[in-house]
Amino acid sequence: MPSHIAFFNFPAIGHVNPTLGVVEELVKRGHRVTCTVTDHFVPAIEAIGAEAVRYESVFGEFYRSPYTDEANAGEGMRCLNDATSLVEQAGPFYEKNRPDVIVHDFMSWGARFYGGKHDIPLVRLFPSYGNNENFSIQEKFPLAEFTDPQVVEMIGELARLLPEFNLPADPMAFFQYVEKLGLIFLPRDFHYDGDTFDDRFVFVGPCMGDRSFQGSWQPASDRPVLLISLGTAATGWAEFFRTAVKAFGDSEWDVVMAVGDHIDAAELRPLPANFEVRRHVPQLEVLQQAKLFVTHGGMNSVMESLYHGVPMVVIPQMNEQKANALRVDELGLGRHLSKDDTTVDSLREAVAAVAGDSAVTTRVADMGAAMRQVNGPVLAADAIEKYLVEQAG
Ligand code: UDP
Repeated sequence: MPSHIAFFNFPAIGHVNPTLGVVEELVKRGHRVTCTVTDHFVPAIEAIGAEAVRYESVFGEFYRSPYTDEANAGEGMRCLNDATSLVEQAGPFYEKNRPDVIVHDFMSWGARFYGGKHDIPLVRLFPSYGNNENFSIQEKFPLAEFTDPQVVEMIGELARLLPEFNLPADPMAFFQYVEKLGLIFLPRDFHYDGDTFDDRFVFVGPCMGDRSFQGSWQPASDRPVLLISLGTAATGWAEFFRTAVKAFGDSEWDVVMAVGDHIDAAELRPLPANFEVRRHVPQLEVLQQAKLFVTHGGMNSVMESLYHGVPMVVIPQMNEQKANALRVDELGLGRHLSKDDTTVDSLREAVAAVAGDSAVTTRVADMGAAMRQVNGPVLAADAIEKYLVEQAG
């Protein structure tokens, strides 16, 4: 039976992108799917036949962070403010259009507030590591300490707000609560402590949907392609791109470099002939042709790289990226290079070492092949439909 399925997203490109394949699959199955999004994501949502429920986020068009310790400690309060603001803005729409289920990003606390207040079942999405009674990314790789004054203030505010949404005034219980259904956009083999996740969780893999709205890309020559990107959310490490130009200018690589909002590409001119520099590239198109990816290690980038069988050099900047970089090292899928150790020579050396290691190539190819066997959007849609039936029964 067709249902109304509401997606409450977190407005980061790396969080919305993996949901697109699942939304598209649910729409194809005849469900009404509504998605809370900022203007930036409206074309992508409408292109796959879902309805956009626009809201203005405290994070702006989409999430960006300077990644300083102080900013990181303030993220919790920004998430909380975004959550209450989302409930205020999207609430009137959903009061007239009650959803049967809310499928929500683990950082979209507004979904849990709204679901709590109106007694609507929830499904949680992890476009990152899941959390259960054994594993939590915040415990293993803390973004900020619970004793930080900004975090203490947020926890106090959360404790005050929770009862307004019919939830217990216990912030720690709020953070630790495990939903009846969680969808993790990773293969189990990549996940830390993957075996401890029981059947409340479904590992759906990266669920890449249609990204033709990003345009197409063709290599400039038949030389090996090196993709370099620090993702979409961080800003400010302009020096890295200058280092990359020095490391790979006039080398054997065709380099495609996405500089995002770190730097104006014009500042890098004159560029060596083997460099193509853009603010954003259609990453999946480039990965189809790439031999190696120098990445900040955002979860989507890591998953997309593995899916396409492309080994990585990972230069992380925040907690989840560090977790990914260490996991890539541990599983022999590439190499971790710390930001502080990144120089022209170390970057060149890491890329040459990974490119020349056939065991890495084989392991990445095997993981990519296994990932391509999984139809994530179908698995996710099946799990959501089964859950809807259980909730109705
Ligand atoms: N992306 C892209 N073009 C770019 C940079 C990024 O298409 O030039 C996409 C990439 O494919 C991925 C997402 O943006 O789906 C970035 O997510 P990730 O988790 O890797 O990093 P974040 O940007 O959240 O730090």
